[in-house]
Amino acid sequence: MTTERIRIALQKSGRLAEDSIGLLKSCGLHVARSKDQLFCRIKELPIDVLLVRDDDIPNFVDSGICELGIVGDNVFSEMKCAADNFSATVVERLGFSQCRLAIAVPDNGAVQKISDLAGATIATSYPHLLQDFLKRQNITAKTLVMMGSVEVAPRLKIADAICDIVASGATLAANNLRELTTVLQSQALLVRGARTFSPDKENIIRRLLARMRGALTAEDSKYVMLHADADKLPEIVKLLPGSESPTILPLRGHDDKFAVHAVCRESVFWETMEQLQAAGASAILVLPIEKMMA
Ligand code: ATP
Ligand code: ZN
Repeated sequence: MTTERIRIALQKSGRLAEDSIGLLKSCGLHVARSKDQLFCRIKELPIDVLLVRDDDIPNFVDSGICELGIVGDNVFSEMKCAADNFSATVVERLGFSQCRLAIAVPDNGAVQKISDLAGATIATSYPHLLQDFLKRQNITAKTLVMMGSVEVAPRLKIADAICDIVASGATLAANNLRELTTVLQSQALLVRGARTFSPDKENIIRRLLARMRGALTAEDSKYVMLHADADKLPEIVKLLPGSESPTILPLRGHDDKFAVHAVCRESVFWETMEQLQAAGASAILVLPIEKMMA
């Protein structure tokens, strides 16, 4: 019996590409890609990868060319906002490629607060998300659609403001622009077609999703080991971030000294370790967790 295969659309190259392939890798799936290849077969699970421009991913998934896709919320939501009969849905927020769609204005321009946007011209590649935002704010403004270099529009005097993707803010600063407000907080999404696929395909999707969730949880989680006196244990256990019941083991040769082992599901910072030490913990070890399955 041959199992059916599913297709997942990923960005071919760019800011989503590496982390998307990296996530599949941490799910034990290897995408062998050569430079011009658009289609790769994954050996470990019945999944094929289609490498495309991120802007094509929502439509590929919506129209059924691919069952799944990984795309930024900014691109997905813009497409959803633009098309009347778009029905692809979000399966999981993946946490990487974090950025925001923001409205920015020249440092010393006419627009200094949100209400000043009334009657202004705003340059953007996200006309639908922008108009949706303006409608919610009861503001009427003109949109100038530009597919790239949006940040130069105010300097060219063709727009009073821009609505564009911001991550560090360096591009804005370099163009003497400052952020006025956020339109959308974005990150990479796993998306799928709305219809139910065959039981075989749904099963592959379930397996992939369980692996992705495991990989994403493991990424933030750490295995913490430390030593502490019995009377210090309650306070120390409270300090362990996001851990359920830790394992407490007696240390050989000590009556009242114990080893504490815990899975911490939240980031363990140097500050956390300093607090643990101040609370009486010693021999503190923080180990990465490679995989996790509940
Ligand atoms: P393509 O050639 O596939 O059309 P692109 O030039 O449109 O690529 P990229 O710049 O690679 O897009 O960005 C892809 C996505 O990554 C964006 O839509 C956004 O979700 C996210 N992104 C953009 N800038 C950043 C950033 N500085 N840091 C993290 N994520 C970002
Ligand atoms: Zn793009």
